[in-house]
Amino acid sequence: MKNFLSAEARGLAPYTPGEQPRDQQYIKLNTNESPFPPSLKVVKALSRAELLKLNLYSDPACTQLNAAIAAHYGLHPANVISGNGSDEILAFAFRAFCGAGQPVAYADVTYSFYQSQAALFGLEAKVIPLREDFTLNVDDYMDFPGAIVIANPNAPTGMAVPRQDIQRLLEANPDRVVIVDEAYVDFGGESCVPMIFRYDNLLVTQTMSKSRQLAGGRVGFALGGEALIEALNRVKYSFNPYNINRLSLIAGTAAMEDDAYFQSCCETVRKNRAWLVEELEGLGFAVLPSSANFVFARCGRLPGGELYRRLKESGILVRWFDRERVRDFVRITVGSMEQIGALVDELARMLEEL
Ligand SMILES: *Cc1c(COP(=O)(O)O)cnc(C)c1O
Repeated sequence: MKNFLSAEARGLAPYTPGEQPRDQQYIKLNTNESPFPPSLKVVKALSRAELLKLNLYSDPACTQLNAAIAAHYGLHPANVISGNGSDEILAFAFRAFCGAGQPVAYADVTYSFYQSQAALFGLEAKVIPLREDFTLNVDDYMDFPGAIVIANPNAPTGMAVPRQDIQRLLEANPDRVVIVDEAYVDFGGESCVPMIFRYDNLLVTQTMSKSRQLAGGRVGFALGGEALIEALNRVKYSFNPYNINRLSLIAGTAAMEDDAYFQSCCETVRKNRAWLVEELEGLGFAVLPSSANFVFARCGRLPGGELYRRLKESGILVRWFDRERVRDFVRITVGSMEQIGALVDELARMLEEL
C-alpha cells in the first residue's frame, strides 16, 4: 500500500464523536443534544421560498445572525463571529492565537476536541491536571506563556469555574488570550460575556447545539473584543468564507430571537436534572455537581464500561470515556422526563439483578 499521508496528517489525533446510530431507535443520552425540537419560529422561517434560494451562496458576513446574537447579549455585531458549530470557531481561535512559540494549555479532563485541534495545528499543548475532586485551580495557569482554553462548565464533568477565578486569570496576563468555552453555560454556569468590554484578551465561545435545539444545524459563535473577532475573521476568510449555509443562518437567527422558548427549554432541563440526580443518588451513584445538561456519575457496583454496555443492550445510549481518571464514570445527557424515567427504571432493574 502506498502511503499518501502527509507527515502532518500522520500526527493527527482525531476526535471520536459520540455514537449516532442509524440501525436502531435508542434512547439517546450520549451527545448532550436537546431532547426538544427546534423553536416553531425556526420551522416557520425555513420556508419553501428560502429553499428555492439555495442556488445562491450564503452571506459570508452572517449579517442577520450576528445582529441577532449581538442584540441578545447587548453587544455590537463587531463583537460576534459565527461558525459551523463552535468546534469551527475553536479551530479559528487555535489557528489565530497559537502557533510556533505560542502554546496552548487546557485541563487533563476536558473536551477532548482541544487535543485534536492542537494536533491539527501542530501546537505545543500543556495539559494541566484538575484537582483530585475535578475542580479547576486557575492558579495552575497563572504563569503559562500562551493561550488558555477552559470549558466552563467543563465537559464531561459538568462542573463550573467561578467567574471571579477567570477574572483573576484575565488580569494576571493581559497579553495572553483566555478562551472560555461556554457550550453549557445556559444550564447554570456564570457567563463571562459581561466581562468582554473590560478584558480585550477574553474570548467566549457558545453554541446553539445544546441549549437552542440546533445541534444538526451546526451553529456556534464567539463573543469578544473587536481585535479578537477580527483575528478570527482573518482565519475564517483564509479557510471557508461561506462557513454557514443559508438554512442554518436562518435557523440560527430565528432560534436566537425566540427567547421564551429558549428559556423554557433550559428551565425544563434544570428541573429534569435535579430529578435525575436525586434518583441516581437514591440508586447509590456518586454524581458530580452539574451545571450542564448532563451528569457525570459513578456507580460503584458496576465499572463504567460495563454499565455503558449493559445500557446499550437495553436500548439506552450514554457516553463512556475509556480514559484515565474517568473510566469509572458514565456521562448521561439530561433528556426528557420520559427518557430519563426509562433510564432510571432500567438502572434500578439492572442493579437489583446484581
Ligand atoms: C458540544 C461542545 C462544543 C461544540 O459543539 P458544536 O456542536 O460544534 O457547536 C464545544 N465545546 C464543548 C465543551 C462541547 O461539549
